[in-house]
Amino acid sequence: MTKNDSSTAPNADGMPDLTPPEQPARLNLCLQWRAIPGEEMNEKLDFLESHGFAAVEIPSGDWLFENGAALKQAMAARDLFIATACGPSDFSYVEPEKREAEVEKFLPQLEALGDLNAVGLILCPARSKPGLPFPELREDFVDSTGKRLAEHAAEHGTRIVLEPLQRRETQFLRQVADGAAIARDIGPGCSVMGDFWHMSKEETSFMGAFLSAGKLLAHVHIASLKNRKVPGTDGPADDYVDGFQGLKLIGYSGAVSFEGGFPEGADKKQLILEMAKLLREQWAMA
Ligand code: MG
Repeated sequence: MTKNDSSTAPNADGMPDLTPPEQPARLNLCLQWRAIPGEEMNEKLDFLESHGFAAVEIPSGDWLFENGAALKQAMAARDLFIATACGPSDFSYVEPEKREAEVEKFLPQLEALGDLNAVGLILCPARSKPGLPFPELREDFVDSTGKRLAEHAAEHGTRIVLEPLQRRETQFLRQVADGAAIARDIGPGCSVMGDFWHMSKEETSFMGAFLSAGKLLAHVHIASLKNRKVPGTDGPADDYVDGFQGLKLIGYSGAVSFEGGFPEGADKKQLILEMAKLLREQWAMA
């Protein structure tokens, strides 16, 4: 067979055939609450909808309890979904009662997120120097703290979303594949996410990292890749095509959410709109 034989499959030269995902991937652009232009809740949601964003990321903790009911009402009849809630967490304390308090803190937040049909609650199992040694921390998170939160999340129709960080923030979880393995070991109610900014420091391949997460990938953060600001503000460094190819291969339909800062004195609204254009162009190229 020759390459120009039109009956020859493109992979007939010994390359693996890839199985397309059951549902094609979608680029669901998302903003974190504080980054959305506007003051009032409906003003922010109007901005997202009118500019083709698909999702919103909200704060966890007190904000969630204070604004959950109003948000639920404001979201009704909108073409938007609530992606994740994000806030600090640490399950590595040596004292079991401190780990228990951390679990107790998040149980009602998972109920609130379930009520909002949110994708999930972003958690980092440990920060800086974990109190527990690595093997014990992983075992305790998989069998107890993380497991109980995941089960509670699943009962309420949502999930926990493990976020790998960088080694300077935590050495415990810094690669997407490792988070996916923890999510697999925990089972229903647990998933993993990828943050392009952290991934650019810790992964050898955006695509490879997303492929290793597969169906366990529930959320994505994105920022410019030199200064962690709005995508596009670091010029050619802000190339997400390889990562987007990975997302397309796994049929990803979660949110791609901007998490980062704004350059000094910037027109935030303008930069956000330029970001949306850039990401749509790169998604089309992927
Ligand atoms: Mg992040």
